[in-house]
Amino acid sequence: MAKYNLPRGMRYSTLEERKQFYTQEFSLEKVQEWLEPLRGKVKFAVIIGRHTKIYPEKYREDAGTTIIIDEYKGLNEVRDYMTEFLPEAAYYDRNVYDENDRKTGQELAFDLDPENITCPIHGTLADKLQRHQGLSFCKIELELVKEQAARLYEHLEKQFASMKIVYSGRGFHIHILDPEAYALSTKERRQIAQKVKEKGFKIDPWVTSGSMRLIRLPYSLHGLVSRIAIPVEKGELESFDPVHDKRCIPKFLSKPALTS
Ligand SMILES: [Zn+2]
Repeated sequence: MAKYNLPRGMRYSTLEERKQFYTQEFSLEKVQEWLEPLRGKVKFAVIIGRHTKIYPEKYREDAGTTIIIDEYKGLNEVRDYMTEFLPEAAYYDRNVYDENDRKTGQELAFDLDPENITCPIHGTLADKLQRHQGLSFCKIELELVKEQAARLYEHLEKQFASMKIVYSGRGFHIHILDPEAYALSTKERRQIAQKVKEKGFKIDPWVTSGSMRLIRLPYSLHGLVSRIAIPVEKGELESFDPVHDKRCIPKFLSKPALTS
């Protein structure tokens, strides 16, 4: 069924599993805590079934669309959207808005994905794209992208004081929480992205420059790999193994299915 090759143990989540996750496991408290530095009203977004082609039948038409969720009273309603759409992916908008919905800043972030890593077995991103395996990755790439995340964190530490690393389900994100970083101009963001790329880091420049303002929502389910996106401390990064780490394995995978 899976179109992409993934490390053993990672696979697409079924609709039933997504439902189980968002009704029983998705932690609104942790999401709330994560979004604290953004202040103001946060917009969310989901993609129901763009890559997995797994979606509730009634959302066939919108399965590949990025659906923005900005009309909700509280996070409980956000969860209601999740259990309704059963998305393969959930995001939040890094833009900060004032009460009149005007953008006042943006969280700075860096996105490192395993497919951008040149693998001794699977080659470059171009090689992978040629085989239509742009979202595939292997354990070697996962290990290499983790090393990049650690080195990028150390590099950024020279400039920023408050940073968080998130295992996104495939790769890693580094979020910058310094208040000054929210106020950076687009030009400054582009320059930062350029410099980091020149240092050899395989980041997605669209995320850092801000053109792509959505980023995976921590504590949401990554439906392509059946892993929970979780913050990871810098000190534990070296030993962090997303294939086996219990914190990122949803209950539907960690508990053997009950036979009826
Ligand atoms: Zn590989």
